This record gives sequence, C-alpha cells and structure tokens, in this order.
Amino acid sequence: MKCPRCSVDLLPTIRHKIKVNYCQSCKGMWLEHNELEELEDEVFDFGDRWKGSLVFSSAATTHKCPECSALLQRFKYRLYDVEMEFCPNQHGYWLDDDEDTRVLDLMKREEVDLQRKLLAEDQWTATLRHMRSPSFFRKLRDLF
Ligand SMILES: [Zn+2]
Ligand SMILES: [Zn+2]
Repeated sequence: MKCPRCSVDLLPTIRHKIKVNYCQSCKGMWLEHNELEELEDEVFDFGDRWKGSLVFSSAATTHKCPECSALLQRFKYRLYDVEMEFCPNQHGYWLDDDEDTRVLDLMKREEVDLQRKLLAEDQWTATLRHMRSPSFFRKLRDLF
C-alpha cells in the first residue's frame, strides 16, 4: 500500500489505539474503512454537536486511494476544523500528521474546559472509529 502523497510504502502501526497505515516520510496516515465497527458506532453518542459538522469542498484532490487509485475527495470536519480526504469507493481516509496532532490538542483543551467524562484521546479514538463505519460513509455520500 503506497502513500497517496509521496508514494512510499505505508506501514501498519497503532496510533491512538487504532490500527492505521502510516507513512514515515510525510507522517500522514490512512484509515481503512471498517465494516465491523458499525455496532460500536451506533452505541457511541455524538449528540447535537455531530449534526451539521461536515462541509465539503467540491474539488477532487490529485491524491490517489492506496487501494483502488481513485482520486480522493476532500471534506472538512467542521467540529474540529480538520480537513480529510476520503476514497469515493469507501476504502478509507487520509489524514495528515499535523492535523491529527492539532485535533488531539484541541480536544485536550476542551477536556479541561468542559470537564468532559471522556479523555481527549479516547474521544479522538471514538471519532476515528466512527468515521470508518459504514453509516459515516453513507452520510458522506449523501452530501455529494
Ligand atoms: Zn507520505
Ligand atoms: Zn479506493
């Protein structure tokens, strides 16, 4: 599996408790679609904050899906102001390393502000799991 940005081999690794395919060159990661996590997805309650949290830029990127070579589409996850790219054939997501770190920092700040029950890292893990679920991919498709 090759990095969509720099074409070097991606290495399977565990990051934020989730198995990802990591690029050692640009430090981005590919998150594979996971059918099995739909159940968990339904159990986790994102509440009102989740609604209307997706925004799209209409332009496709020039990056290719590591699995099918389709051009990745960019979308924005407004809740954390993060931009990600996803395969229109539902193979997964691309996330830049600095985005990953930035969102986690943001969540850690919220953790202090709101005294949330969930730890930031756990919440980020849950968010990433949610994004790989079939229901999330359906939401993305519906917005196109
Ligand atoms: Zn790379
Ligand atoms: Zn694909």
